[in-house]
Amino acid sequence: MAETLELEVATPERELLREQVSELQIPGKNGYLGILPGHAPLLGLLGIGTLTCISGGTKRYYSIHGGFLEVLDDHVRVLADAAEAAEEIDVKRAQAALKRAQEGDINPSLGVDPAEALEAMARAQARLEVAQLNHK
Ligand code: ATP
Repeated sequence: MAETLELEVATPERELLREQVSELQIPGKNGYLGILPGHAPLLGLLGIGTLTCISGGTKRYYSIHGGFLEVLDDHVRVLADAAEAAEEIDVKRAQAALKRAQEGDINPSLGVDPAEALEAMARAQARLEVAQLNHK
């Protein structure tokens, strides 16, 4: 069996990564999935969270915000609605987005849809988590 799989991470705007990795963990719509070489074929929806992959013994982190996942023949395609590599994340922007979403969620008079506020909160929290993991 192969010792690595090819991981491709892209958004509709750009490709973030195309690399051989030894394993990865990715946020599916219903929870995190661990993927190793030899994984069965899979087509699924992505959730919001942290993609962790190990490449050449080094862990790398990406924030992933919804989209699609395909696993086929040791090739993993991640087509995310939005995604950022850990080092690209603007922490101040994510903190501001989190604050705005929290204010919108607890203050109905601002007219923010609570479901949208929760999604925005999840995106900001995922970005902050990834930025933090990168500095550990
Ligand atoms: P904001 O309110 O700060 O725009 P958002 O969650 O509404 O946050 P998205 O709509 O998910 O932002 O993303 C819009 C674009 O901005 C995407 O290309 C995304 O990768 C990028 N982006 C959003 N927040 C950040 C961040 N904190 N650091 C780097 N890129 C970001």
